[in-house]
Amino acid sequence: MEPLTRESLIESFNSLGIRTGTRLVVHSSLRNLGPIDGGADTVLDALISCIGSEGLLVMPTFTYQNEGFNPDISPSKTGILSELLRKRPDAVRSLHPTHSITAIGDGAVALCEDHFLKPGLGINSPLDLVAKMGGGILLLGVGHTSNSTVHVGEAYAKMSYLDIPFRPSYPISIPILGSVQMEVELLDPPGCSRAFGVIEALLRKRSAIQDGLIGKALVQWISGEEVISATTELLRMDDAALLCSDPTCYRCSKSRERLWR
Ligand SMILES: [Zn+2]
Repeated sequence: MEPLTRESLIESFNSLGIRTGTRLVVHSSLRNLGPIDGGADTVLDALISCIGSEGLLVMPTFTYQNEGFNPDISPSKTGILSELLRKRPDAVRSLHPTHSITAIGDGAVALCEDHFLKPGLGINSPLDLVAKMGGGILLLGVGHTSNSTVHVGEAYAKMSYLDIPFRPSYPISIPILGSVQMEVELLDPPGCSRAFGVIEALLRKRSAIQDGLIGKALVQWISGEEVISATTELLRMDDAALLCSDPTCYRCSKSRERLWR
């Protein structure tokens, strides 16, 4: 297989509808793409080149449960692409101790503002704001279990289980370290996403998914607002739809208990 190049990637992104001025959130698994000329940075260069300076590129740079969060050095645990984006000189990282995002482009600073005052993936969180701006979601070699905007939909659906932590020992607050220092309360910590694959069928029924193939990876391009609206529709039909069936999952078991009480 020919390695992917900057030009071939730009062509593929363009054909999905990613172009000058596009705002998007990218969830990715680089290894699923196959060989790339120049490696991971080529993918970032191609995305930035497609959207131009009027566009906005956003990636999760989540750190999850940790002792403390330093925006300058805490590595992203959500893939190599996001880790490299975070290290770019013009990147802006939001101050959130578990679910920070990194953005490059027009509006990046405003998007990241005050994230520590909001639930990581709740209403008015950066991912919600991207959706409200008409932004899209690019799933690059990953499925909807990686689509964090589904958590935003759970918040809009006002699910009763949002405050249940991932595990009983989950901290109530985590300090932000570095140049800004503060203790940040963790509001509605995002739960388990292992069942989020179910949203795909509903999005397909709504013809909301544009499919593509880039290198070896299946990719999906979807509007953020569609994901939020499909999630609230799904939860209206079945309030347990997004809970996983693993009986050892504390978050989903406790959530079920609450729904069925
Ligand atoms: Zn679960």
